[in-house]
Amino acid sequence: MTSSFQDLYGHLPETVVQAPGRVNLIGEHTDYNGGFVLPMAIPQQTHIELRKRQDQRVRAFSLNTDHRGEILEYELGHEDRRKGWLDYLQGVTYVLRRAGHSLTGFEVRITSEVPLGSGLSSSASLDVSLLRALRQAFSLPLDDVQIALLGQQVEVDFVGAPVGVMDPMAASIAGVGVALFLDTRDLRFERVPLPPGVDPIVINSGVAHNHSAGDYRVRRAECERAAELLGVKQLRDLTEADLPRAEKLPDPLGRRVRHIVTENARVLATVEALRTGDLPKLGTLFYASHDSQRLDYEVSVPEIDLLVDLGRADPDVYGARLTGGGFGGSVVMLAREGTGVAVAARIAKRYADQSGQRPAILLPQASSGTLSSR
Ligand code: ADP
Ligand code: MG
Repeated sequence: MTSSFQDLYGHLPETVVQAPGRVNLIGEHTDYNGGFVLPMAIPQQTHIELRKRQDQRVRAFSLNTDHRGEILEYELGHEDRRKGWLDYLQGVTYVLRRAGHSLTGFEVRITSEVPLGSGLSSSASLDVSLLRALRQAFSLPLDDVQIALLGQQVEVDFVGAPVGVMDPMAASIAGVGVALFLDTRDLRFERVPLPPGVDPIVINSGVAHNHSAGDYRVRRAECERAAELLGVKQLRDLTEADLPRAEKLPDPLGRRVRHIVTENARVLATVEALRTGDLPKLGTLFYASHDSQRLDYEVSVPEIDLLVDLGRADPDVYGARLTGGGFGGSVVMLAREGTGVAVAARIAKRYADQSGQRPAILLPQASSGTLSSR
């Protein structure tokens, strides 16, 4: 059932906006350690249609949830965490009101092509698209970086997912086909185009994660503890010269530090390889990042490792790695130019046969926003 805004609310929307999901090329779990990241927007977006109301009531509908077909409601000023998708909307009005912006109620219809819980940041694309819609509807004086920071607050302060700033920054300012090289400590960024000769591919493993779940939180706490024991503000402040000292920390803290420090170095090396068009080097960095996530940071799962191994065995693949927070989600691969569609299809087929999962393929440079499911 695809009820239109008119079907749901009896009139047309006033505001129609969207924001994309993202694929992170490299730099995983570095954002909450003040480090470097390299995400890229994907063509898949979250679309918002919205109309203001005279009263304080918010009425919301999403085509992408189990509540399909049902309008959920709350009152502005009475945001109350319920542990469901409405929390993202309640979080948005909560952080806007807390920052002193005045709103009235509104009606909203949400549709998204970004798969939920697949490491492609559906939640930030929802936060940012709704913030954009409210900025437009209520003429809020917010720039794109402020939108991203508010998006992060939605998840950290309201939803209870202690995420870093990468996802909302990517949803708010990244472009398709261009990597966003972002320093999460001071939010300085630079756009780095992908070199010719490479087709990026994303394969969603079909294993969904949940970021507000314990594991992500545990990794964050481990990083904070390690930074405290090593006497630095953030793990970003360490270099490879500090690793012998870090490796003396009680396990697994030493391994967690090693991942963050080497991953930061890999982001810098990847930016350099993108600039020089060194595709074999990019591939080596991708596999090294994956191994670090698997062994040192322990955020991979067997299905994701299988996808990466299928990449390793494929002559047309330069490199592959888990993308996003992990514990499921998606793999990003770099294939030889012109082979992306065929490579993705054969790897997804082998993966489906061996794992019994239902993968989905996404080509992040394609102009169409459709996901192809097998
Ligand atoms: P990711 O951001 O990697 O996709 P998260 O666990 O951070 O995964 O966010 C997924 C959650 O965000 C969903 O469970 C849902 O609550 C919310 N969400 C994302 N997109 C939508 C949408 N289009 N409609 C309703 N809720 C959504
Ligand atoms: Mg998310």
